[in-house]
Amino acid sequence: MITFDRSEALRYLGYRGTEPDAAVEESLVRCAEGLQDVIQPQSVFRRFPLRHPAENMLDVAGVAIHSNHLARNLKDCTDVYLMAATLGIGADRLIARASAVRMSDAVIYQAVAAAMIEAYCEEVNDMLRREAGNYGLYCRPRFSPGYGDFDIGHQRDLSRLLDTPRKIGLTVTESCLLAPIKSVTAVIGLSATPQPCHRKGCEECGKTDCAFRR
Ligand code: SF4
Repeated sequence: MITFDRSEALRYLGYRGTEPDAAVEESLVRCAEGLQDVIQPQSVFRRFPLRHPAENMLDVAGVAIHSNHLARNLKDCTDVYLMAATLGIGADRLIARASAVRMSDAVIYQAVAAAMIEAYCEEVNDMLRREAGNYGLYCRPRFSPGYGDFDIGHQRDLSRLLDTPRKIGLTVTESCLLAPIKSVTAVIGLSATPQPCHRKGCEECGKTDCAFRR
């Protein structure tokens, strides 16, 4: 059971500052219950040392990453967590079935599942923040391949380093999409410098002058 943010699901559906009518609300509740019945959230993470061999270049476990945005976000970090999380294949199947039968439900399933994987990632992230705290380290926000100039092709490296096919049934397709679809891979920087990072990441953070903003 994942406690997800209903307002986020509504945002994905295009509601901004307005409430859905009774019929949509009923569909939202029904689809959320349907998803809760079939999802099997699983996650895996590992900590790796981080090297900064050149400006805008990073090295994690021998994988060279060229990215200005990620390098800025990970400035001063000595280590990273790599993490992967998935809702499992059940959500994909439910969405595919609805797409063939009732498209309006498929759209709602998509939105609720997106809010659920986000909520699940935050749960995992909270646990990692606590673990990092035990070592006197502070987590930067999650940064996923495909965000900014962090090449989406690195999904493959994260999957390999975390052994996601075996550990949580998560694979990466030829075109670098994740399967199951409602899955996330991400890098989380670890720094000894206290940083008041917002739980929901830089977009929600009021620290607009932050040097590490992604
Ligand atoms: S902008 Fe906020 S959330 Fe982003 S790195 Fe800076 S302090 Fe952390």
